[in-house]
Amino acid sequence: MSILVCGGAGYIGSHTVKELIGNYEVVVLDNLSTGYPFLLEEGVTFVKGDLGDASVLDLVFTEHKIDAVFHFAANSLVGESVENPLMYYDNNVSSTVTLLKKMVEHGVGKFIFSSTAATYGIPDTDLITEETVTNPINPYGRSKLMVEQVLADVAHVHDFQYIVLRYFNAAGAHDSGQIGESHNPETHLIPIVLQHLLGKRDKISVFGTDYNTADGTCVRDYIHVTDLAIAHVLAYEGLVSGEVFNEVFNLGNGSGYSVKEIIEVCEKVSGRSATVEYVDRRHGDPAVLVASSGKINKSLGWKPRFQLEEIIKSAWRWHSK
Ligand code: UDP
Repeated sequence: MSILVCGGAGYIGSHTVKELIGNYEVVVLDNLSTGYPFLLEEGVTFVKGDLGDASVLDLVFTEHKIDAVFHFAANSLVGESVENPLMYYDNNVSSTVTLLKKMVEHGVGKFIFSSTAATYGIPDTDLITEETVTNPINPYGRSKLMVEQVLADVAHVHDFQYIVLRYFNAAGAHDSGQIGESHNPETHLIPIVLQHLLGKRDKISVFGTDYNTADGTCVRDYIHVTDLAIAHVLAYEGLVSGEVFNEVFNLGNGSGYSVKEIIEVCEKVSGRSATVEYVDRRHGDPAVLVASSGKINKSLGWKPRFQLEEIIKSAWRWHSK
């Protein structure tokens, strides 16, 4: 039996494939729109194609005995989703519905879905649990929440079990130095700061200094990509054992760091100092997003292994290469 990883040539997908390979057969489906061939692990079967393409899915599900699908393939930038909502509803919702239809048709009934803290919108609490009300404020968050709702409906009537993982801020790179974060264009804070410290950008822009936080900049919960990847394997094992299914879990470290604090840690890790400009808020950014990951710890025994400085050190090694 194999695991189908949709989006396995992307940042989080490729790190998850690394955790799977050796123990499981892996088939990666990726259209390489934002993923890269160099992130593809040796030993995987790679199929280049869109997950909205029913004929490609028929081929994959017919040629391989697929036990479960891990679904990372999505667009994930808040600003882009505001500019181009139809692209987000098409790629993140419609394509996923096609994938789910084909899974049901081919009798594949285990699904692990990459969701996001953006489903919570502007939460009314500083520590977000899975009980916190979901009220996304942009098309990206809405597209992910819609799929979560679709999954519950599908599981209600079909032989189909799922686990939803709501990621907070993924960061860092694999220990091996072989894979790490590569987006084009890059919009995420940690890679932008490190690229600047490596001389690849003139300065860093901090978006907003008037938030209701200790230093006025946004606070986020950064989680190492390998910790995220391990959570997917545990989620799969929970589905296989039949003990954990149709659940939603947060995935974060449980500690918040402001934009200014992130810049300081990056300076410390690199031994270099940054040039910073303070600009207006970025549209759609909540002030504070910090996860309680108590539920996944209790259900699946997951806990994060990497804290902020180690996360940034691993990212620095990757970006310095
Ligand atoms: N941010 C920033 N400057 C940048 C990129 C990001 O000030 O060049 C801030 C952003 O406003 C947010 C935090 O850093 O408060 C994390 O943003 P990122 O895009 O990395 O992740 P997000 O929280 O949007 O998923």
